[in-house]
Amino acid sequence: MLYQCHIFCDFDGTISGQDIGWELFQRFGQHEPWNAQMIAGILPVREYWQKMAQHLTQPITHELLGDFLRTIPIDAGFQSLLAVARNHSIPFTIVSDGFDLYIHRFLELHGITEVEIFCNHAELTPDGGMTVSFPHATEGCECFTATCKRNVLLRLAHPDARIIYIGDGISDHCPAEHADIVFAKGKLAAWCNANRIPHYPFSGLENVALQLSKILERRRLRPRHQAALQRKSAWERE
Ligand SMILES: [Mg+2]
Ligand SMILES: [Zn+2]
Repeated sequence: MLYQCHIFCDFDGTISGQDIGWELFQRFGQHEPWNAQMIAGILPVREYWQKMAQHLTQPITHELLGDFLRTIPIDAGFQSLLAVARNHSIPFTIVSDGFDLYIHRFLELHGITEVEIFCNHAELTPDGGMTVSFPHATEGCECFTATCKRNVLLRLAHPDARIIYIGDGISDHCPAEHADIVFAKGKLAAWCNANRIPHYPFSGLENVALQLSKILERRRLRPRHQAALQRKSAWERE
């Protein structure tokens, strides 16, 4: 390979067919009033998750969690995307502002165990409750997340690596700004359009796998100047 690359991929709504972080509290708890408070900027994102975890309306067990996760599909192209990364010896990291509790379990249900994951922590308590914590949180960024994914990118990627980012939501804005190649759908695609971040729109990961193999075969992976500048200034501030 002529250059190093690193693929970072969002989980909720990108790998999973639905936003499990949202659906989980829809099923076992409630979002309001905290969601409205968070959107209004009154409640920080970490406290939003804490409030919801503290106020479940139904007890949750590992068994119920498994039943719930089996109702949610996985993107049919995820295995193809992992294969592209493997075939080109490109490191692949899942970065999520959601929780290990359901991410590990969901991937396991689909036979995927070998992927590196950076996310927040949640565990079930014996009485059917849930606690959450944020082991990767740093104070380095003001973006609208519990744990900034950008910091994971900057920490893990080789300084000369081309960063490839795949995502669909608000927590993907910050890492996409720092990536050389962006694959975007949903809210992330709209935000990229509004902010003139060049990106490949996609509807499913099969598209991403195909497009990415073409890019890698044609060796068209140039650094994106604006992203390189953003990374440099973030590194300098750390
Ligand atoms: Mg997402
Ligand atoms: Zn950030």
